[in-house]
Amino acid sequence: MKTILLALTLSLCAILPVSATQSPELKIRAAEATIRGLPTEHAIIFNSAGDIVARFDAGTADDVRISINGFAGDIMTHNHTLNVSFSTADVDNAREMGLSQLRVVEPDGVTCALTATADHPFVMMWLTDDYPHTIDSIGAEDFNWDGVWRHYAALYGLRYGCSR
Ligand SMILES: [Zn+2]
Repeated sequence: MKTILLALTLSLCAILPVSATQSPELKIRAAEATIRGLPTEHAIIFNSAGDIVARFDAGTADDVRISINGFAGDIMTHNHTLNVSFSTADVDNAREMGLSQLRVVEPDGVTCALTATADHPFVMMWLTDDYPHTIDSIGAEDFNWDGVWRHYAALYGLRYGCSR
């Protein structure tokens, strides 16, 4: 009897598609691998299960045209052609779209993510009193977006991190 059960389990595993057993993060990372390092920007939107719900490929080296309606709660990633984190326009789009997470893949292999929650949604920081203070505290000469988003996340209760 044990042998039959084991054999049944093994055959069930064999017919399940690989994607059904992958975590959302793994599915998103697999899609990100297809756009990392491309010469123009591409954006891909996922649901919370990590399945692709939309993609936008009409990009230039500096940006990519996306539609912002209908993606509340979703996760959006895109590639940058330079090794820099999010622009203010990126985060403003995420705020307007009501995304749960915004991601960017850089050519050098770094992936950054800014994650919002219901209690701590994306905020338009650069039109508030905090923005000049943030720029001052980081230092204009030593300006870096990574530092801006670390500060932004700490200030508004979002999560920000980059990894390889
Ligand atoms: Zn961007």
